[in-house]
Amino acid sequence: MPLKQLPDRAPELTAFEAGYLVSPNGDWRSIRPVIDMDRCVRCGQCYLYCPDGTISPEISVDYDFCKGCGICAKICKRGAITMQHEPDDA
Ligand code: SF4
Ligand code: SF4
Repeated sequence: MPLKQLPDRAPELTAFEAGYLVSPNGDWRSIRPVIDMDRCVRCGQCYLYCPDGTISPEISVDYDFCKGCGICAKICKRGAITMQHEPDDA
């Protein structure tokens, strides 16, 4: 079986870098990650693991693109991220 051709631009880590997505797609999200910056130690794990690159290196979430998957909350060893219902969805 022939090997698949790699795309010109492939992600180097587990996710694309922040700012990769261009079409807002967060409007169907039912829960959102909320970061407690008092608990956050800026380790950058959530930034690296977010599959949509919606967490910036400064550790803030771009809710226009976040789909509410919860991976960032799962990966945060400090428990600084909690998934909360969208205000309209509570
Ligand atoms: S994984 Fe948690 S502690 Fe690390 S930067 Fe993200 S929110 Fe902060
Ligand atoms: S909930 Fe998912 S898409 Fe949203 S910031 Fe966290 S990892 Fe990224």
